[in-house]
Amino acid sequence: MTVMLELRQELCAYGRRAADLGLVIGSSGNLSVRDGDLVAVTPSGVALDALRPGDCPIVSLDGHLVEGELQPSSETPMHLAVYAATGATAIVHTHAMFSTVVASTRTELPPVHYNALLLGGTVRVAPYATYGTPELAENVRTALEGRKAALMANHGGVSVGANLADAFEATRLLEWLCELYVRSHTLGEPNVLTEEQLAQVVDRALHPPVFPRRD
Ligand code: 13P
Ligand code: ZN
Repeated sequence: MTVMLELRQELCAYGRRAADLGLVIGSSGNLSVRDGDLVAVTPSGVALDALRPGDCPIVSLDGHLVEGELQPSSETPMHLAVYAATGATAIVHTHAMFSTVVASTRTELPPVHYNALLLGGTVRVAPYATYGTPELAENVRTALEGRKAALMANHGGVSVGANLADAFEATRLLEWLCELYVRSHTLGEPNVLTEEQLAQVVDRALHPPVFPRRD
């Protein structure tokens, strides 16, 4: 089986999962995965839980349609801009509810929980621009600098990873962190972890205590 066929099958599997988990509805959201200078991407306007591998176009990094009958996602310029600027090999974009709530009301998602470090710390909100535009692509590329995820103002969220499983988990974590942040506000303004507390988490992760063996 060719690599690209395998990657197109993965797009279908993760598209279905995104829909099953309620991270996307209808044809909202899109996914892509890269192999060398080729990118398999979800088609524009097709529900992510109804995708077949052959529906997923293959585009080149320089923005040409290489294979497929359907048009690539309208956010393909954003995906390509991120691939051009980072070492990412997979991208997941959703309109997940809590991510979109935070993206519509805040300019960043502060680290309320230490697991925010898995996304690089504070998550930036890319300024609003019309979907599918080079302007939105540039805003998202900038917001992702040094991060695994970004929010997109009045739109949704985007995550990157070394493969689709990795980018998908980053999307689930982004949504979980946004839900935590939104729900915390029902009890008051949530406490934000300090730089020092975050540095201690990094230190703890780098130097875990080793349990002594019982002889
Ligand atoms: P596509 O169906 O073109 O991928 O568009 C969905 C979307 O989320 C646009 O931002
Ligand atoms: Zn979108």
